[in-house]
Amino acid sequence: MSQIKVLKSRDIPGLAEYIASDKCKNIVLMLGAGVSTSAGIPDFRSPDTGLYANLARLRLPYPEAVFDIRFFRNNPEPFYTLAQELYPGRFRPTIAHSFVRLLAAHSLLHTCFTQNIDTLETIAGVPADKVIEAHGSFASQRCIDCHRPYDDDKMKVKILAMETPKCETCGGLVKPDIVFFGEDLPDEFIKAIPNVAKADLLIIMGTSLTVHPFAGLAERTGLKCPRVLINLEVVGSIGRRPNDIVLLGKCDDAVEKLCKELGWEEELNALWAKTAMEPAWKDAQEAEDEGAAKEAATTDDLVRVITDAIGRKLKLDEAAESKESAADEEETVALNEETNAVKAEESPAFKAASKEEPTATKEEESTAAHSSSSPPRKENAAPNEETDAVKAEEPPAAPAFRAASKAESTASKEEESTAAPSAASP
Ligand SMILES: [Zn+2]
Repeated sequence: MSQIKVLKSRDIPGLAEYIASDKCKNIVLMLGAGVSTSAGIPDFRSPDTGLYANLARLRLPYPEAVFDIRFFRNNPEPFYTLAQELYPGRFRPTIAHSFVRLLAAHSLLHTCFTQNIDTLETIAGVPADKVIEAHGSFASQRCIDCHRPYDDDKMKVKILAMETPKCETCGGLVKPDIVFFGEDLPDEFIKAIPNVAKADLLIIMGTSLTVHPFAGLAERTGLKCPRVLINLEVVGSIGRRPNDIVLLGKCDDAVEKLCKELGWEEELNALWAKTAMEPAWKDAQEAEDEGAAKEAATTDDLVRVITDAIGRKLKLDEAAESKESAADEEETVALNEETNAVKAEESPAFKAASKEEPTATKEEESTAAHSSSSPPRKENAAPNEETDAVKAEEPPAAPAFRAASKAESTASKEEESTAAPSAASP
């Protein structure tokens, strides 16, 4: 046992000494929503404050429908309402993001895997070729039918105007390249999985390690590779190996302490200071949305704003539907008509979200790209059965926006009665 112990101590001083040593040349990171929490990005998961819980009172057949590709086909508007609130440019990277940038500056960063779709890693200056967005991101977009890429600038304009972007070739819906339920994980992620075995150090930050295959990356290091978990609570198997370090707390706090120990404090602060620039189009955006985002001083507020915005949109749809004889009146009518069919067929599949499958990790991953036996959502209906690739078992935004914020009972009221029975948060 002792010969595989490479850390002097399983704490921040021991970690700093190891990072400064010549044994540590390649650092691999796994980032989850906790890294972005202090940027104000809302939690999609927590039962009381998460966006899903708030969406449950709306007329969606189930909250995750916002990120379901088949629901999106019929009714893309809830997603675009949410996209407008979460679109990159509205959030500043956190200290933890700048820490990743700092590792790159010290030529220590091998690969930064992230579950987050907020692109805050690259906004913080982490070299794009070091970042693997396991669940895709808002950075690019394409037609869901002919897959033709769609222009970035046009996309921004459409999203800000709350319009649904359509393919200029075939008229199909355009969607950001974030992974929805029922879609394949990006090839880049699958190809980068072996990178973990090259790590001299694995740092896991702000993730619950429940979403596979992403979570399984943590099991792919050698026994001599120290694994560091920076999170609000102990998760996965981290802590069980002799070189594991568990640092409970907020990501920003932990990386600040670590950088202080390394003598990197000033560099970290300087890199983070650079992220303070206001995106050029932010002000225009905020003017557009009636100042709602400005009111969203806290994460809870933002969740409420998003939920209310989607609620208004859905009510508009409902009103339009009731006048369906006037076909030319509202373009939203057609989008809404097929909603009920989607609901009946798909709701159960997503209740079965395989959040609790830690033991299947290794097998799933090793065969992930080749075996049809391993998709995490086997029960997930016909359209995907013929494909062999790994499927998303959570919508990307679910793990991406996890938070610790406290409940605020914005729910209920009159919308409650219209919520679908299946909409209860899983
Ligand atoms: Zn197209």
